Amino acid sequence: MGLFDWIKNSGEKLRRVEDKIYQQRTDFVEIYQRNLALEKEITQRTEELHKANQTLLTLEHVWDMMNSSRPLSSVLETIVSSLHGEFQYLYSCIMQKQLDSDGEFFAFKTYLQNDFLMKFDDCTKTSLFETRINIQKDSPIYEAIENKKFTYFPINEDFFKLLFNDNYFPEKINELKISTLVKSFLVVPIVSKEFTGFLAVFSPREEPKESEVNFLNLFARQIELAITIANLFETVKKQAVTDSLTELFNRRFYEDALAREAKRALRLNQPFTLISLDLDKLKHINDMYGHTAGDIAIKTVAKVITKSSRSVDVPSRVGGEEFTIILPGIDSQGGLIAAERIRASLENEHVEIVGKITASIGVATFIEQTSNLDELIEMADKAMYFAKQNGRNQVKLADIPNEISWQQVAVDAFVQILDNHKIPFNASLAEDLSKKLQTKQEKQNGTSTKDLLYGVVDSISKSYASQYQEGTTKAKVQLASTIAKKFDLSKADVDKLKIAMLLYDIGNIMLPNDLLKKTSPLTEEEKETITKHPIYAAQQILKPISHVSNIIPIIEHHHEAWDGSGYPSKKKGDDIPLISQIILIVDSYFAMISDRPYRKAYSENEAVEEIKKLRGKKYSEELTDEFVHSIEDLKRM
Ligand code: GH3
Ligand code: MG
Repeated sequence: MGLFDWIKNSGEKLRRVEDKIYQQRTDFVEIYQRNLALEKEITQRTEELHKANQTLLTLEHVWDMMNSSRPLSSVLETIVSSLHGEFQYLYSCIMQKQLDSDGEFFAFKTYLQNDFLMKFDDCTKTSLFETRINIQKDSPIYEAIENKKFTYFPINEDFFKLLFNDNYFPEKINELKISTLVKSFLVVPIVSKEFTGFLAVFSPREEPKESEVNFLNLFARQIELAITIANLFETVKKQAVTDSLTELFNRRFYEDALAREAKRALRLNQPFTLISLDLDKLKHINDMYGHTAGDIAIKTVAKVITKSSRSVDVPSRVGGEEFTIILPGIDSQGGLIAAERIRASLENEHVEIVGKITASIGVATFIEQTSNLDELIEMADKAMYFAKQNGRNQVKLADIPNEISWQQVAVDAFVQILDNHKIPFNASLAEDLSKKLQTKQEKQNGTSTKDLLYGVVDSISKSYASQYQEGTTKAKVQLASTIAKKFDLSKADVDKLKIAMLLYDIGNIMLPNDLLKKTSPLTEEEKETITKHPIYAAQQILKPISHVSNIIPIIEHHHEAWDGSGYPSKKKGDDIPLISQIILIVDSYFAMISDRPYRKAYSENEAVEEIKKLRGKKYSEELTDEFVHSIEDLKRM
């Protein structure tokens, strides 16, 4: 093979290789391009999937909303606002077809306040919120709704003219388009048995995509469903629990609510007040002006009650002309104020045909006055009847049935203590006390039971502590009750505290006299006797007296300290009954400001300072602070 052939051969080989390379390159490019296309498709599909997912989420959210028991208006608001994120809409709302003497028009059903709405309102003479969009039969919006067909309009003068006739500022439209980027207005018809209207959407795009229209239509179906469900729900709910004449709750609902409220009150140890109201002289109104006028009087009462009720209150019509209101968390004083407000505003109503109407009202408070539900109902009724008998048009607070006052309990306790011969009262004291206690009447020679009691305790205290000042008992009870008020104690607990204040030191009677009066420092053993013995003695003395058995644990723990350093059980913090804690701080204070055989008295200010030093140790922080406030309160009085 010559050189030439070799070259020719090589050239051909080269060309073949080149061809091959070229062929392969084309393949590669093809593959590369195919890959690119695939990648693009994947991205697109992913996006679609993402969108679908979003749509699903939104719809799911809407579905959840519909199944909640929230009122329709709030359901629709949430539905409409959840729409915004989806396609970057600028504003959306639901317009409802309405009819009045001027004909048919569209008005807002949901209302969302945002920047867009404010800018839009700049273009129109009335706010979109107040606008009545009067629509002629040949209007494209009307047509869209008639045919339940989606439609959209570019934002321009024609659009404004269509919606607002001449009530807009043409020169402002361009400004709106520039500042908000709004380009089109989408109308998605919402038509169901109980609703005709449309979902209105302001979009930043010239025209909607197909997927968008599909989604919006789906959305509109959900809204129709929401409206249907909400209406059904409302009707069923209302029929079951409300009275048709007044729309107040009916007796059945009232009874359930009352039982529920009582349970909650007991669990949280919080009061609630029951108001019982009866229209005055309804028979007379019926006889004079007819049954319809009587009905109007009843409706007026309902209106007044509704207006003065909080959302948590339960106002009910429980009989022809009998009404009740449950006021959760309200004590008797608050209940009286609420009842008086109702009485006064009813009196000030003018009822057509009839003129003025009035009602008699009874008020009773759960826990504060009784913890028995049947008794509460009876008490409120009795109070209402009392108001009737007393001249009508008035409010009366219930009496506590057969209430034994704390004074009576204490007097009984002392009488029984005296009768109990184990107690070594000296003869003259015993005689003095039994004389005082013989008559247990409220008034005794002008002295109230309370003063009598304080006198008795003063005398007993003096018998074992000669320096005991007359009047200290009264001051102690006063201070203790002032502190108790700061802690929102129930009336029953305050009564317990007052009785315990009178009895907590009674055990001292059993201590040997010489020990109490000793001026030299006490030995450890003597200290032990003087601190612990009175508690056991008090237990022994009080145990046989049934009425004060619930006081014994309180007295037992009135030397326990907040930090656990007290006695006899070394209880700590909230384990110590609050009433015992109050007794401790009051007792300490009065011990400090009185002379003792072994030291002079502190001044009142010094005593308060001493107590403050033990804040968080012997007494809780809160108790110490409230104690200081109480001392200040009493000084001002
Ligand atoms: P008092 O001030 O003592 O309550 O006098 P009263 O006439 O309101 O009380 P009474 O219990 O004697 O009569 C109640 C009347 O209320 C008798 C009944 O016909 C009437 N009544 C009950 N329910 C309705 C009602 O739904 N509509 C009307 N118009 N009257 C009713
Ligand atoms: Mg009546």
